[in-house]
Amino acid sequence: MNLLPLYHWYERNCRILPWRETTDPYRIWVSEIILQQTRVAQGLDYYMRFVARFPDIAALATAPEDEVLLYWQGLGYYSRARNLHKAARLLYQQGKSMPGTFEELRLLPGVGDYTAGAIASFAYNLPYPALDGNVYRVLARLFDSDTVFDTSQGKRFFHTLALSVLDQQNPRLCNSALMELGALQCLPGQPDCDICPLKTQCQAFEAGTVALLPVRKPRNSLQDRYLTYTIYIADSQTLIYQRQGKDIWHHLWEFPLKETDSPFAGETCSRYKDYIHVLSHRRLHARFLLRPVPSLEPFCRKLQSALPELRIVNLSDLSDYALSRLTQKAIEDLISASGLTT
Ligand code: SF4
Repeated sequence: MNLLPLYHWYERNCRILPWRETTDPYRIWVSEIILQQTRVAQGLDYYMRFVARFPDIAALATAPEDEVLLYWQGLGYYSRARNLHKAARLLYQQGKSMPGTFEELRLLPGVGDYTAGAIASFAYNLPYPALDGNVYRVLARLFDSDTVFDTSQGKRFFHTLALSVLDQQNPRLCNSALMELGALQCLPGQPDCDICPLKTQCQAFEAGTVALLPVRKPRNSLQDRYLTYTIYIADSQTLIYQRQGKDIWHHLWEFPLKETDSPFAGETCSRYKDYIHVLSHRRLHARFLLRPVPSLEPFCRKLQSALPELRIVNLSDLSDYALSRLTQKAIEDLISASGLTT
């Protein structure tokens, strides 16, 4: 494949992004983890704040997990932050800096083939493909392939295709340009192929199959869960606890929770709000009850055996805790909107 038209297009069109202006493998790693399941526009602010507070492996490794989660708050998929933190701690404890090979990068918690390939090529200019969702789409169209891409077999197939395209002399530029083409030009649906630098080499364009590609496996149906949270309020204080166990929002803080197998049965009070919140495999039906009480102490004593991490906090201090986006939304809608101080 002739990549020169792509490179010229990239020079003229690429976005100036801080992780593209560096070859520091730590910063590239952080950016890649943040950008998984996150749009660049949203991820940029998080990245800037994160590397300002945790500029290197030592700073991240020595920070408490609660603080790392706080800097991640709102991005979702918190296992990414926990793995990043865990990996930084492992490297720090072993007195190591960032690994310099694909194989060693791949051993870090939370680093898969894509992230290892991205760090290896962007930081060290090593010849590894970096196949994110955008690149899968570009490759499926360039080769007019209807192979399902999100299965292990499909991933192997597209890895081989990516290797056949990869510029061995300049993998950094090649991967960056392919990813940017997918992000800006070769968009889902029907892109404007007439202005594409690879139009004359694109088999799907020639075959008229652009809008049909790429092909992904059918989505599994979502699991429904029913959550009822109670926001007890007394004297500008409330009760929150830290989630434990292997489940969604591990180690985040939230209001006392009752989970049921079926939709809410009679759980209301004068002020409440319902939400449907969709995560990757689950649809959460959440009800938040705002319950002013004379004193929090009796509720704290009653709930503490089931929720040992329960504590009384000032409403104005809630922002010091790592909270899920859903909990933040309920705070805005029920606590802030009621004129209660946060
Ligand atoms: S011609 Fe169209 S489908 Fe082909 S790579 Fe370019 S934008 Fe994508």
